[in-house]
Amino acid sequence: MSNNTSFSKQPQLSYLLNFIMKFLSILALVAVAKACLLPEERDGGHLVKRKSYWRRQSNGAPIGTGDRFSGGTIVPQGLGTQTTSFSTILSVAEVSSGFEALASSYDFPTFTAPYTTFEGRTIYGGTVGGSAGTCVNAYRAYFNANIHARERGSADGLLYFISDLLYANKNGVGIRYGSKSYTNAQVKTALTVGIVFVPMSNPDGTNYDQTSNSCWRKNRNTKSGSSGASVGVDLNRNFDFVWDFTTKFASSVASSVASTNPSSETYHGTAVFSEPETKAIKWVLDTYPMIRYFIDLHSYTGDVLYSWGSDENQSKYAYMNFLNSTYNSVRGILSDTPGSGSGYGEYSPTQELADNKAVGVRIGAAMSAAAGRTYTVTPAANLYPTSGASDDYSYSRHFANTALNLVHSYTIEFGFGNSASSCPFYPTVAQYNTNLQEIGAAYMETLLAAVDTGLGDAVTC
Ligand SMILES: [Zn+2]
Repeated sequence: MSNNTSFSKQPQLSYLLNFIMKFLSILALVAVAKACLLPEERDGGHLVKRKSYWRRQSNGAPIGTGDRFSGGTIVPQGLGTQTTSFSTILSVAEVSSGFEALASSYDFPTFTAPYTTFEGRTIYGGTVGGSAGTCVNAYRAYFNANIHARERGSADGLLYFISDLLYANKNGVGIRYGSKSYTNAQVKTALTVGIVFVPMSNPDGTNYDQTSNSCWRKNRNTKSGSSGASVGVDLNRNFDFVWDFTTKFASSVASSVASTNPSSETYHGTAVFSEPETKAIKWVLDTYPMIRYFIDLHSYTGDVLYSWGSDENQSKYAYMNFLNSTYNSVRGILSDTPGSGSGYGEYSPTQELADNKAVGVRIGAAMSAAAGRTYTVTPAANLYPTSGASDDYSYSRHFANTALNLVHSYTIEFGFGNSASSCPFYPTVAQYNTNLQEIGAAYMETLLAAVDTGLGDAVTC
């Protein structure tokens, strides 16, 4: 019985299995064919995966090869005066070569910070304009760029802006960034402020990012880790402003403020100012004591951020500030009300806060007008609370030491990201050019707003 039964059933079973397998393979073929024929734009299923596969291939605008400034002999020509568009991003070597060409062509003073990076590079800068001469007191705006390696176009934006400014001044012409234009008289007014500028403040990290396309943010110090993500410090968490976030911020927010993990993108380093790059920025602020406006140029979120970045602003309680350890357990909580219960807000005197905001609003309006993309102007903490950032450090100096000058400080987050790249900080060629126009308008407006809002004491050399 059993034999008979099995004999009679076996052919039926294998026929059924064969049929099922054929049916399944036909289904699979149809699915593959369907996925390949669907338009790229369509969302869902396999298509999203295919699209992200292609996204990973894009590194945005290429980095320049060779040296377009020919060893410091060809002067950079900015988008605001002489050039219509660029097709490649400046390499670290080209930023340096372009800087040398500018300095020798326009004969302005240059400096090298007294700290060498982990890989042995120097951090250099220049000073232009000023109404009192060329002594250290003559300069009242400090523009810093490329502290974050992957934020491509940052150094370029600063170098090309200075190129435009000096060219327009020398040749008696104005500057135009997209729909935003400035007269030659405004150029001359802007230059009276006196500018200290450092176009490449993280050369090691930027060189690594440009040669690896790794979306690298930090510097390349190997003290805390020697491979992969463990290399490097987030320079914009290394400044002396509530740096020790594990004790100075509420435990509920501390993990997003910075990190003690070397593999984190916001690793704050082994100590305050442990890095040569941040020491160099402090050195610039110490060396040019009349600096009153500071801009650190970042990408990307389409924001102009003014102080504070540690907590929401308040102008009512002077004792409620970053130096007061009473508030260590509640600092960084944005949802509380300063003065109510344990609520904390970072103190900014009424007039300073009004000026911080007013200049920020003008910068944002100029950037928005340049290319029609809307920039948001907001206190830095609204992006997310941070510790050890360059803008808060610069603004905090006159609270920590009343002998120091008040510095209105900003973080500009230019651009809106490249969604076609796995590293959205890498702009396309078109985005790179638009970003440069917005950056130029931002710098120009900062200088004009600084004149209108006040430069502090008259300077003499
Ligand atoms: Zn950044």
